[in-house]
Amino acid sequence: MIKTRFTEMFGIKHPIVQGGMQWVGRAELASAVSNAGALGILTGLTQPTPEDLRKEIKRCREMTDQPFGVNLTILPTLVPRPYGEYIDAIIDSGIKIVETAGNNPKPFMPKLKEAGVKVIHKCTAVRHGLSAEKAGVDAISMDGFECAGHPGEDDVPNLVLLPAAANVIKIPMIASGGFADARGLVAALALGCEGINMGTRFMATKEAPIHQNVKEKIVSSDERSTSLILRTMRNTSRVYGNSIAKKTIEMEGEGKTIQEIGPIVAGAKGKVVYETGDMEHGIWSAGTCMGLINDIPSCKELVERIVREAEEMIRGRLAKSLAA
Ligand code: NAD
Repeated sequence: MIKTRFTEMFGIKHPIVQGGMQWVGRAELASAVSNAGALGILTGLTQPTPEDLRKEIKRCREMTDQPFGVNLTILPTLVPRPYGEYIDAIIDSGIKIVETAGNNPKPFMPKLKEAGVKVIHKCTAVRHGLSAEKAGVDAISMDGFECAGHPGEDDVPNLVLLPAAANVIKIPMIASGGFADARGLVAALALGCEGINMGTRFMATKEAPIHQNVKEKIVSSDERSTSLILRTMRNTSRVYGNSIAKKTIEMEGEGKTIQEIGPIVAGAKGKVVYETGDMEHGIWSAGTCMGLINDIPSCKELVERIVREAEEMIRGRLAKSLAA
C-alpha cells in the first residue's frame, strides 16, 4: 500500500486517479477504476444535459460503492454549455469529489465548498496551481506537456513542471500527463507529488466504454503518434495524429478561423470514433504515453500491477542503490 495525503484526503486505497476524458469517462470506466481502489471520474460534459449527468451519476452508484468524482472542464466549446446547471446536478446528486479543469475554478468554489465537495483542480502551470490553491481547492492535478487533451501554452514537461510546482504549492498535488506505469508513479512521488492521474492508459482497459479499435490503436502506437492542434487559437489540444488532425493543422496554417475548422474538430465527430472504431472519422485525444502502453488489462489488473511494481521498485532497486 502506498499511503499519501491524497489517498487519505479522498478516502481511496491507491494513489491513482482516472482523468476526466471527454466521451470516455462514463459509469462503466469510473466504477471499474473506483472498484479497483483508485479514483474513478465521470466526465460532466460527456453527458449532453445536466439531467443526463444526474442519471449517469445514479448509474455509476449502482456499479460501485466506492468514492468517485465528476470532472467539469471549462474551455471554449462550439455550443455554449450551462456550467452552473451541471454544478447543481453534481451537488444535488450528492457527489463529494469534483475535478475542475480548463479555467479558474474560483467562481464555482463557494457553492462547491458549501456543499462539502472536495475539489481537485487540474491545471498546466505553476501560477495557475497557486491561484487555485488560493481560491480554496483541496488538491492540484498538475498536467505536463506530455498529456492528452489541453496541455496549455507553456510547453513545460513534467520533469521540470512537477518539482517547480511542488516547491511552492502546499496542498496535495498529483501528477498528470505521461503516466502509464509503476515507474511513472515512483517518479511522481520523487518529484513531489502524492499520486498520479492517468487518462490514455485507462482508455486501453477492458472496461473503457470505447471501440476495441481505439484500444488496439493506442497499443500499436508510440510516443510520436500525437499531434498538437488549435495552437493558433491558444487552445492547444494534443490528439491522436490522424488525417483529421493533420488537416486541422494545415487549415490553421492557412489562417482559417474556428468557424471554418469547427466542423472537422467537433467533439460530436470524435464521439463517432469511439463508438464505431472508424479511426479517421474525427479528432480523438491521446497522450504521448501511448509509447508505454502495450496491453489491454482490466482496471483492477492495471491498478494492482502499477502499485505492486512501484512498491517492489522502492523496496528493491531504489533501496539497493542507496546501500551500494
Ligand atoms: P467542441 O465540439 O465544442 O469543440 C471542439 C474543439 O474546438 C475543442 O477542443 C474546443 O476546445 C475547441 N473550440 C471550440 N470553440 C472554440 C473557440 N471559440 N476557440 C478556440 N477553440 C475552440 O468540444 P467537445 O469535444 O464537445 O468537448 C467539450 C469540452 O471538453 C471542450 O471544452 C473541450 O476542449 C474539452 N475537452 C477536453 C479534453 C481534455 O483536455 N482532456 C479532451 C476533449 C475535450
